[in-house]
Amino acid sequence: MIVIGGGLAGTEAAWQLATRGVPVELFEMRPVRTTDAHQTDHLAELVCSNSLKSDREPSASWLLKEELRRLGSLLIDIAAKTRVPGGQALTVDRVAFADRVTRAIESHPLIHLRREEIAQIDDSGPVIVASGPLTSDALAATIGRLTGSDRLFFYDSISPIVDAHTIDRSIVFAASRYDKTLDGAESEGDYLNCPFTKEEYERFVDALIAAEDVESHIPNDAPYFEACLPIEEIARRGRDTLRFGPMKPMGLIDPRTGRRPYAAVQLRRENLRADSFNLVGFQNHLRFPEQKRVMRLIPGLENAEFLRFGQIHRNTYINSPALLSATLQLRSRPNVFFAGQISGVEGYVESIATGLAAGLFAADLAHGRAPEPFPRETALGSLCHYVSHADLKHYQPANIAFDLLPPLATPIRDREQRHARICQTALTALERREEVAIGRACV
Ligand SMILES: Cc1cc2nc3c(=O)[nH]c(=O)nc-3n(C[C@H](O)[C@H](O)[C@H](O)COP(=O)(O)OP(=O)(O)OC[C@H]3O[C@@H](n4cnc5c(N)ncnc54)[C@H](O)[C@@H]3O)c2cc1C
Repeated sequence: MIVIGGGLAGTEAAWQLATRGVPVELFEMRPVRTTDAHQTDHLAELVCSNSLKSDREPSASWLLKEELRRLGSLLIDIAAKTRVPGGQALTVDRVAFADRVTRAIESHPLIHLRREEIAQIDDSGPVIVASGPLTSDALAATIGRLTGSDRLFFYDSISPIVDAHTIDRSIVFAASRYDKTLDGAESEGDYLNCPFTKEEYERFVDALIAAEDVESHIPNDAPYFEACLPIEEIARRGRDTLRFGPMKPMGLIDPRTGRRPYAAVQLRRENLRADSFNLVGFQNHLRFPEQKRVMRLIPGLENAEFLRFGQIHRNTYINSPALLSATLQLRSRPNVFFAGQISGVEGYVESIATGLAAGLFAADLAHGRAPEPFPRETALGSLCHYVSHADLKHYQPANIAFDLLPPLATPIRDREQRHARICQTALTALERREEVAIGRACV
C-alpha cells in the first residue's frame, strides 16, 4: 500500500494500515524538497498554531477527537502525551509531538518511510494521496489530470458564516435577485438580503478600509486571485466599487420600503448546514476580532454570531463532492483514496480524522472487503459525507461543526443539552459500527 505525504493525514493513515497488518510505503518529500510552510524534516509537523482546538465536552471538535481516541488514533494519543496547558483546547508541544510521531512511524516494522517526492500516482494497487495543502507542483499537475484541472483548487477564499438564529429577520429579507438566480437553479428564500441605506453603506466602507488586516502570504501574481479579491481590497479601489460588485442591490426590493436598497449583502444558505448562512463574496483578510466588529455593521447582523470567519490562503484541494465517495475513494478509480486537507477538509484534527478513515477504508480493500462508510450520526461519518455530498458548485473545505451532523429526531431547545445528545448519539452509532467491523474482520 502506498501513502503519499507524511503529514498529519498520511502518518495516521499509514499507522492504521500497518496496525491492521498491511505493509505500507510512506513517501514524504521533505527534506529533499520542502514547502513554504514546513520548517523541519519531521513527519506530522504542525505548520502554524499548536492547538488541536477545543477538547471541551460536548463541542463538535471534542466529539471528533473522542471518536478518534476510541478508534485508536496514533496522533491524538501522542497529542495527549505531549499536551501543554492551553485551557480547554488540546494544545501540544509541537516539537515533541512531531518527534514522537516520526519515531513511531520509523520504528513500525510494517512501515517503510521513503524520503522522495512522488510525481505520478500508480493506482495498480491501493494508494492514499495525503500530500496536503502545499502539495508539490509535479504531483498537483498529476492530480489535475486525474480529476480534471477545473476540479483542483490552489487558493481558498472563505467567506464568513453566520448562525441563522442570530440574524435579525425584522431587517433582513428573503429573496433571490429578480426572484431567481441567473441559472434559475435556486428558488426565492435561498438568499437572505441585508439592505443598506446610503449612510449605512458609507459607515461600513469607512470601517472596512480602516480595519486591521492579517499579514498576507499570497503572492501578487497568484492565479485566480483577481477573481476572489478580499472585500477590503475592493473597497480601497473606490468607494462605490463594492456597490457594483458583491454588494450590488440589483434585482432586490426591500419589502419594508418597497424600494431597491442603496447596497445589499446577500447571505446564502450553506447546503448541509441547515442553520447557517455565508456572506456571499465576502472573503477577506481581516483579523478575526476586526471582522466581527465590521461585519456587525451590516444591517440585520448587529448581533450576529460567526461560525467561521473569512480567509484567503494557499490551499490545494480537490472538488471532492464531484469526485469522492463517502469512503474517500475516487469514484472513477476506487484504488485511489484522498485524505487530509487535499480531500477538502479544513484543520489539523479534520486532516487526522480523514487520514484515519482512509487508512481503515484502504485496509478493508487490502483485505478483500468492501469499505463501509462511517454512520452519518458520527462526526467522522458527517465529515466524509460532507466531502462527498456537499454542493459542488460552491464547495469549500470545512471544519467539523454540529451543523454538518444530522439534526436530532426529536429537537432539543437547550443548546448544551442538544449538543450533549448529538454527541451521545454519535458515540453509540460508532460503537455499533465497531461491533459490526470486528464481526466482518473475523469472518
Ligand atoms: C500555512 C498554513 C497554516 C495552517 N495553519 C493551521 C492551523 O493553525 N490550524 C489548523 O487546524 N490547520 C491549519 N492549516 C490547515 C491544515 O490543518 C494543515 O495544513 C495540516 O497540516 C494538513 O494536514 P495534511 O496531512 O493534509 O497535510 P500536511 O500536514 O501538510 O502533510 C502533507 C505532507 O505531504 C508532503 N508532500 C507534499 N507533496 C508531496 C509529494 N509530491 N511527494 C511526497 N510528499 C509530498 C509534504 O511535505 C507534507 O509533509 C494550515 C495550513 C497552512 C497551509
